[in-house]
Amino acid sequence: MNTAFVALGANLGDPAATVRAAFAALSNLSESRIVHSSSLYRTAPVGITEQPAFINAVAQLETTLAPEALLDALFDIELRFGRIRADKNGPRTLDLDLLLYDDQFLELPRLTLPHPRLHLRAFVLCPLAEIAPHLSIPGRGTVAAWLPAVANQDFVKL
Ligand code: ADP
Ligand code: MG
Repeated sequence: MNTAFVALGANLGDPAATVRAAFAALSNLSESRIVHSSSLYRTAPVGITEQPAFINAVAQLETTLAPEALLDALFDIELRFGRIRADKNGPRTLDLDLLLYDDQFLELPRLTLPHPRLHLRAFVLCPLAEIAPHLSIPGRGTVAAWLPAVANQDFVKL
C-alpha cells in the first residue's frame, strides 16, 4: 500500500456540494481507499481575483495505483464533473491535484511530485495540516513548519 494526498478545489456552481461529491468519487476509486478527509475551507482566489471564492479540501488515500495511474484516475473524475481546462488559476468546476505520493520525487511532463506549489498555498497546507500535521514534504520539511509562511492568506474553515 502507498499513501497519497490529493487536493480538491472547486469554485463554480455549488462548490461545496462538488467537493463532497468528489470525496465520494475518490472513495469509489479502484485499488484505493480514503483514510482521512479534511474539513472544507473557503478561500479567496489566487492569481485571477475576479472569480468566485474556492472551496478546498484534502484527502489522504491508501492506494496500489502507481502515481501516473492515480493522476489519470483524478483527471477522469475532473472530466466527469465537467472540468474544462481553460485559464491556469481560472475558474473550474473541480480541480484535483496529486500533492504527495509516499516520499517520491517525480519530474515528468505531466506529473511533478511533490506538487511544486503545495507548501506555498494556505488552501492546501491548512487542510493537509488538519489530517496529517506531522507529515513531511520530501525535500522541504514538515507541513506544520510551513504554516507560518502562509499565515497572511485568507481562508475560513467551514
Ligand atoms: P492547476 O492545478 O495548477 O491549477 P491544472 O489542473 O490545469 O492547473 O494542471 C495543469 C497541469 O499540471 C496538468 O496538465 C497536469 O498534468 C500537471 N501536473 C503536474 N504535476 C501535477 C500534480 N502533482 N498534480 C496534478 N497535476 C499535475
Ligand atoms: Mg490541477
